Amino acid sequence: MDTWLDLRSDTVTRPTAAMRQAMAHAQVGDDVFADDPTINALQDKVAALLGKEAGLFLPSGTQSNLVALMTHCQRGDEYIVGQKAHTYLYEGGGAAVLGSIQPQPLSVQPDGTLDLDEVERWIKPKDAHFANTRLLCLENTIGGRPLPPGYPASARELVDRHDLGLHLDGARLMNAAVAQGVSAEALCAPFDTVSLCLSKGLGAPVGSVLVGSRDFIERAHKWRKMLGGGMRQAGVLAAAAIHALDHHVERLADDHRRAAWLADALGELPGIEIVDQQTNHVFFRSARVPGQELQARLLERGVRILGGDVTRLVTHLDVDDAAAERFVAEMAELLPA
Ligand SMILES: *Cc1c(COP(=O)(O)O)cnc(C)c1O
Repeated sequence: MDTWLDLRSDTVTRPTAAMRQAMAHAQVGDDVFADDPTINALQDKVAALLGKEAGLFLPSGTQSNLVALMTHCQRGDEYIVGQKAHTYLYEGGGAAVLGSIQPQPLSVQPDGTLDLDEVERWIKPKDAHFANTRLLCLENTIGGRPLPPGYPASARELVDRHDLGLHLDGARLMNAAVAQGVSAEALCAPFDTVSLCLSKGLGAPVGSVLVGSRDFIERAHKWRKMLGGGMRQAGVLAAAAIHALDHHVERLADDHRRAAWLADALGELPGIEIVDQQTNHVFFRSARVPGQELQARLLERGVRILGGDVTRLVTHLDVDDAAAERFVAEMAELLPA
């Protein structure tokens, strides 16, 4: 139903008419034989955008991160990661289950970083008692928040001292680049490998690209096949992604502006406390009508949110100014003065 308003995530966007046209006209081939020209073009485009040698198209960000972890780490190795990081908390424990890789989770600080002194203390000695610490994994944006400038370079110094790899879960990296006014390439420079989601704010229906050195991507290719991510004429999906990169990056600034507007407007409503607003994310508490109840009452009005103790709203391609205003109006009606 087209009158639905959906603020649960930026994954809910549907392909635009122009994107569907690009998909309909895509040149395709068998990508398991590396024959799909549109996938090859997408992989090269993302590698160039992020300043790495090569790229690999995968069906999801979860698989992209898992392939990255399995390429960086062997059985019995360990990666250091944030407690709230997607690659630890929201990927079903895949690194441990499928990769035999032990996570060492550490708490995430309010600015989205891991304390690098703490990271250093948790790097295991070379001793038979311990897993072999192999990788540090960061996320940008995390909870919608771009990593502070300069932090990835400090993380690089640390991993270099200990001969670890450095992976970035950059699912929403382009949001960070647009919000901070820096190039995606500069944000990725300290990292060995980066995973970028095309199906979040960029608005493509499916897919992520993992980038790194040519040698790394060749090895990652094997893990992708083993995990079932080798697709055939998937150029139709890559065409959507290329269209998204050509047309939907600069407009992320509109999502950020609308999220800021929502935070201001909601903050005026009775009992609403804005907890945070960064890029396209707004987090709020509701004192008079709890988040779960707001979710149920809004659903009756054709509005989808994920209500909780803290409720997260995410703006995206299918939320224009009128939709943002409608959301505030619906909320105003539900909240007793
Ligand atoms: C969405 C997301 C992913 C990957 O999600 P998929 O749904 O598997 O594509 C990875 N990391 C972060 C930070 C994400 O937000």
